[in-house]
Amino acid sequence: MRTKVLSSEALDYFARINASAQENDAQLKPICKENFSNAVSLGLYSSGIKSLTSHFSALAWGKHLESLGYHSMDCGLPLLISLRAGLANTIIGAKNPHINLAYAAYLEQGECLPAFAYTDGADPFSFNTVAEKTEQGYLINGVKSYVTGGMTADIFVVYARKKHSKNSDLAVFIIDRNNPGLHVQSTDVAGLRTAGIATLVLKNCLVTKEKILQENDGLSHVQQFLNERRLFLVSPLLGRMLGIFEATLQELDSRIRYGAPVSAMQYVQAQVGKMYQLHASSRAVLYDALQRQDSTEFDPYWDPIASSAKAFVVDSALQLVGIAQRLFGGDGYLRSKNIERYQRDFAGYIPGGGAQDTLQVDLGIHALNQHQLLNAFKDRNTKSIFTDPITLI
Ligand SMILES: Cc1cc2nc3c(=O)[nH]c(=O)nc-3n(C[C@H](O)[C@H](O)[C@H](O)COP(=O)(O)OP(=O)(O)OC[C@H]3O[C@@H](n4cnc5c(N)ncnc54)[C@H](O)[C@@H]3O)c2cc1C
Repeated sequence: MRTKVLSSEALDYFARINASAQENDAQLKPICKENFSNAVSLGLYSSGIKSLTSHFSALAWGKHLESLGYHSMDCGLPLLISLRAGLANTIIGAKNPHINLAYAAYLEQGECLPAFAYTDGADPFSFNTVAEKTEQGYLINGVKSYVTGGMTADIFVVYARKKHSKNSDLAVFIIDRNNPGLHVQSTDVAGLRTAGIATLVLKNCLVTKEKILQENDGLSHVQQFLNERRLFLVSPLLGRMLGIFEATLQELDSRIRYGAPVSAMQYVQAQVGKMYQLHASSRAVLYDALQRQDSTEFDPYWDPIASSAKAFVVDSALQLVGIAQRLFGGDGYLRSKNIERYQRDFAGYIPGGGAQDTLQVDLGIHALNQHQLLNAFKDRNTKSIFTDPITLI
């Protein structure tokens, strides 16, 4: 049932990561730079970088991340690998000559670690983080929360509302960690505690002109980034679901109640069947969406299949870990069994990459629009918007 075979060096590396996962979670200790660069040296990162000739297709990269999620009992590591590769792509892909000269090679080699600073405690049309134009560039003030990997990041992709712009337009900046006026603070999160989630405080933070990644329509920029990111965000989750499933089967083997293994009880068998179903259906949905991401059918701004797949995998993972909790009995509540940790970790994916509820609203609006469009054209050959989701949705 294993998803991918890694080299023995990589397996040794994961054994070390796994040995300290619990302790690092307890201490809110981020995956350190050395551990990240070890992953890079083992070839676990660069296949996600589109500017390198060796880069993987979306499906292959998703499967690679799934494999990392399976082998890493620490959910923070594959999360950081997928996020940093995605950010490297969006920075290099902007083709800004100054920025690429300064950062591209280091991003490709995993030597410069980027983080994504968007969430602002407000909706995108009333952002609290404001950028005021000056002769040298922009002066930025505001607070950014939940910056994954922020504790160990070298640069931040920061979104800010341009002061005096008529339509609350957003601009996107690259800000170095040592930029005066930028302060990075640790956030005491419930789960994903090794992902180095940070709060950024920007006080009169002057960003020079050559560090502007995109001066107008930052909203489209973030939509495109998150749209492409959603599937890679949840790919490691699929691998971890399998890890939890296997650990549950192992646990059931050793559990005897009323003179029989609990796995002989029909209720338990049905719950195991449900876990299998949750994992298998998540994999089918995710692979289908990843394959679409490689095709011309994929909508680069907002793809409904990608959003559906993200929401489905997260809901399924939460259900699966909930079943594991029940089947482990009281032991499911022991920190040593990790189940409670995965419940905390998985809950982070509910808001991460676009809140599940908001995705559902957007999907509903999308389906209603499609329906109205088809009615308007009165296309008699098309009975339903769902007859051929690949071409119609
Ligand atoms: C583990 C983790 C990692 C994260 N990493 C990052 C990161 O690296 N960078 C970053 O910038 N952010 C990050 N975030 C933040 C995350 O992207 C936001 O929390 C998320 O986008 C929701 O925004 P919000 O917290 O402002 O919630 P709100 O926008 O206040 O939404 C709260 C709830 O209100 C409802 N709601 C709000 N708007 C709508 C709507 N339009 N339609 C329907 N319902 C709605 C939903 O139920 C929603 O869940 C992370 C969050 C977590 C938990």
